[in-house]
Order: sequence, then C-alpha cells, then structure tokens
Amino acid sequence: MSADDADAPGGDAAAEDLNIFLTRETVEGDADGPLSGRTVAVKDNISTEGVRTTCGSAMLEDYVPQYDATVVERLLDAGATVVGKTNMDEFGMGGTTETSAFGPTKNPVDPERVPGGSSGGSAAAVAAGEADLALGSDTGGSVRNPAAFCGIVGIKPTYGLVSRYGLVAYANSLEQIGPFGRTVEDAAALLDVIAGPDERDATTRYDAAESTPGASGAADVPDGVHPADATDYAAAADGDVDGTTIGVPTELVEGADDRVVDVFEDALADLEARGAETVEVSLPSVEHAVQAYYVIAMSEASSNLARFDGVRYGIEGGDGNWNESFAAAREEGFGDEVKRRVLLGTYALSAGYHDKYYKKAQDARAWVKRDFDEAFAEADVLATPTMPVLPPKRGESLDDPLSLYLMDANTVPVNLANLPAVSVPAGEAEGLPVGMQFVGPAFGEEAVIRAGSAVEG
Ligand code: GLN
Repeated sequence: MSADDADAPGGDAAAEDLNIFLTRETVEGDADGPLSGRTVAVKDNISTEGVRTTCGSAMLEDYVPQYDATVVERLLDAGATVVGKTNMDEFGMGGTTETSAFGPTKNPVDPERVPGGSSGGSAAAVAAGEADLALGSDTGGSVRNPAAFCGIVGIKPTYGLVSRYGLVAYANSLEQIGPFGRTVEDAAALLDVIAGPDERDATTRYDAAESTPGASGAADVPDGVHPADATDYAAAADGDVDGTTIGVPTELVEGADDRVVDVFEDALADLEARGAETVEVSLPSVEHAVQAYYVIAMSEASSNLARFDGVRYGIEGGDGNWNESFAAAREEGFGDEVKRRVLLGTYALSAGYHDKYYKKAQDARAWVKRDFDEAFAEADVLATPTMPVLPPKRGESLDDPLSLYLMDANTVPVNLANLPAVSVPAGEAEGLPVGMQFVGPAFGEEAVIRAGSAVEG
C-alpha cells in the first residue's frame, strides 16, 4: 500500500492515523430492519456487552460492561452493524477530544485541527467514511459541536426522548444520547430507531405538561402517546420551510467570529428565499448560561464520578486505608480536567456554598427555560451558529480551560432548557466547516429536522 492509499479517507489506516476508534470490534445486528446494511460507530461512554467501554479514561481502560445500553440494543435490533467504540474527551468533559487519556482525535477535514468534542471520535468516524452513522452524547453540546467542526449533522434530542440506560453518567439532568449522519435524513432515521420510552429509564416517560406551552413546532400527539411512537423523524427531513418563522436570538450571534456569522447569514437568506420568515428574538438570560451550566455539570459530575474508587469501579488503588486507596486510584485514573471538575463540583455542593453556587445556577436554569418559552411564542424554531468559532488547531485551547468553556455559549442553553436541537453544515469559511444550529420547543424534533434539511438545499 502506498503512503497515499494509507491516507485515503475510509481506509483502516486513515482511522488509525486520525485516532478515531479506541476499540475496533464489529457487532452484527441480529435482525433485518430499517438500519440493515448500515454501519454505526458508538461513543465509548455507551455500554456495549462484552466490548470494552473506557469513557476515554485510564480509570476504565479494562472495563468491559456486562450489558448493552438500550440504544445499542435498539440499533442492533434494527439490523445495524456496530463497527467500534470511538474516542472522546474523558467522561465527556471537554469540547475538542483532547482530554482523552488515549490521545486526541484529528479532524478528517484538516488533521491539524480538533474534530470538536466531546464526541469527536464519533463525528470523525462519519466524516471520514469509517461509519455511515454514529452515536454520541450531548451534555452541553458534545454532539452538535463535533458535528459542526467535522461538517456533518448531529441531533441533540429533547430531554427524555432517548433512554440513557447504559450511558455512563457525566451530568444526568443535562445529557441525552444523540445521532450523527452525513445528512439530516440519515441522522433522523437513527433517531427513529433509538427514541422512545424505556422502562429502565424513568425520564423517558412522556408527560404532555413538559411540552413547551403554546409552541406551534411542538409534537402534536394524542393523550398518553409518547411523541417518538407517533412520529417519523426521517420523513420530517423534507426541506419544506415555506411559512416557517425562524427566530434569531441576537445574543447568540453577536459574540461569534465574523467569518462564522457571514456563513450563517447567507444560509438564513437562502431559507428566506425558500419562504421562511426570520424575526429577531432576545434571550437575555443566556449571558449567565455558561456559568450556570458549568456549576450544574460539575456538581452532578462530582457525585456521579464517586463510584470510580477502585472498589466499585476503576483501577485498584492498592493497599492502605480506604481514603488512601481511593485517592491513589483517582490520582492515577483521572486526568487533569476530570480532577478539576470533581473538585469544583464538590466545592459548589459543600455546606455553606450550596446556596451561593448550586442554587443560583438552578435559578439561572429556570430563567433560561422561561426565555426560550417566550421566544417560542414568536417563532417555530430558533437559529444560531452552532459554534461561535472555527475549529481550533490541536493544542490551542487546552491550556486555557475558560476559553474552552466559552466555546459552549450557543449549545449549553439548549441543555439547560432540555430542548431539541440539530447542527447542520451551513457552508465553509477558509476551507473549514461552519455549522448552523436549529433549536425547537420541547419534543419539537420534527420542526428542527425540517428546518435543518432545508439548509442542505
Ligand atoms: N464542553 C462541554 C463540557 O465540557 C460539553 C460536553 C458534553 O456535552 N459532554 O461539559
């Protein structure tokens, strides 16, 4: 094989070079179904029976789950073939896939740049042609961010649409498993397979009261029916935005790089030419969203990661009293970003500081939700640039955690409000992909899928 062949997209050598997979293992689906013949790459924080699941952490380097996550069960039942477990920021904590204990993934569009994160391996697998589809998880943007940076489509479902059973928790109140595809229709077809109630995850129970009040883009389903059981998401990718009102939140456009804004505005103009109407909306609370998100995410993480002590899960901490042995396991098993977050989260929840940080963050979260409700009284969907910046070069952002956190400005408000969103490629700036995000009312997946598919032309 010549050096050129080794670099060709789609080859095994390409995948290794880009560091996309942590474990290469094929699991064939056992039935004919809507996904038969399709290959799916699975983020390494989603449990796969008999296949190593590391969460990108040295702590779980040898951990092999005894059961499949519900989403994995469903995609195998649908006839898909799993082709491997993908690299990720350690426990989902990051936005570039550089905090992985197993080295960074490279962006297939430009290998000097990051693929985004934390589901960077999954997005890169689809962008490089290593898989038709992929699963990621999105706590604060981890599906939409790498979709945007790799030039593919990613969907973050409404909280409660997709089962989290078997997803290794980072911040449970914020995260959802979400699909990647090269087209909106492909990603939506994977959503059709994984969405729906699961008796092993009580948050998938549908309560009509959770739908955004008065929003025209919300799911319109009979009483007692789960939206996933009454909706064909792939069929919603019909590109028809005639008569759709698209709200543009000024606060989430102003802060973005000019090159990103230019591409975003051209895409909006195209949608207007296809019969959509755009209106300005305001979300004043988003000014506090990044701070609130990080307080809540770190607080939940500090509690969720307590199980990695070398006794219940994780590498052994050796002899000594339990305190020393837990500390030794964590010192060795966790990377810097994970340690930082566990410490900050523990601090935010500690007696005396709980009201000052955690409670304030919860108040801000409620405010963000209210702002979105008001915006959906004026618009069917909202549109923003997915990421305010172009994909950075590797190494550029790691030394400055704060700059990394600020990259999440446009994605985290959606998780705080538990809403659905899609990121679709809107064009390029300097040869790099720019993603456009559509946000919908709760259980309004069809509306964001429809709008996203219109951007594809
Ligand atoms: N970048 C965000 C964080 O580090 C989002 C990560 C995610 O969605 N898993 O928390």
